[in-house]
Amino acid sequence: MGCLSIPLIMTLLLLSACQTAPVTGRSQLILIPESMEIELGLTAYKDVIKKARLSEDREIVDMVNRVGRRIAAAAEREEYKWEFNVIENDKIINAFALPGGKVAVYTGILRYTENEAGLAAVMGHEVAHALVRHGGERISAGILAQLGMIGLSAAVRNKDPAAISAVNQAYGLGVNVGVLLPFNRSQELEADRIGIVLMAKAGYDPNEAAAFWRRMMKAKDKAPPEFLSTHPTTERRVKEIERWIPEAMKYYKIP
Ligand SMILES: [Zn+2]
Repeated sequence: MGCLSIPLIMTLLLLSACQTAPVTGRSQLILIPESMEIELGLTAYKDVIKKARLSEDREIVDMVNRVGRRIAAAAEREEYKWEFNVIENDKIINAFALPGGKVAVYTGILRYTENEAGLAAVMGHEVAHALVRHGGERISAGILAQLGMIGLSAAVRNKDPAAISAVNQAYGLGVNVGVLLPFNRSQELEADRIGIVLMAKAGYDPNEAAAFWRRMMKAKDKAPPEFLSTHPTTERRVKEIERWIPEAMKYYKIP
């Protein structure tokens, strides 16, 4: 959706709603306040965690927390209350992060991350989606159009299931592949580009992101929800990431 294609009644909202994504400079239309997105995200996260089987593998849980904390430090969001969980499900090749700092990794993706830098690539990518508020963009384009601002505020206040499910969809939570909408191509590439800057700042070699996606390329037939989305193609992704690595390397310090 372009910033100029919105009906006139939304003009006032728009004055504060058009913002620019960091690193890429892309212009974004986000109609809900970040505080509301964080509140919705927290509710959705609690719901997913309550229903999930959390990993009790100390080694894995510690690793995800260790990598997560370093990515979180690189993200520089004082207002976030970071939390990292590992969901036991080897069939789900996925991970997600919500605005506010709630992050989950499914055990299925650990086959492909292989090492901590690979995991940092995944977590950097997901945290980038949250930081840049890609879910907020999707919510703006989706339920806000249906409910209006007052309707959405009420839905958030009442923790309306429709609002929660919209957040689940916007951030790719849950396990029902049929329900998940992939982020669009420009959001995906933006998360890749910002994600490798985050991993570099966190002290992980950004080249490992390209290596991770090359491993995913081989797994494509198994189609993971977020990570097997067909747009962009994994081939294009790897090419773009390689092109952005010099930018990320400027931030890379071996810890
Ligand atoms: Zn993504």
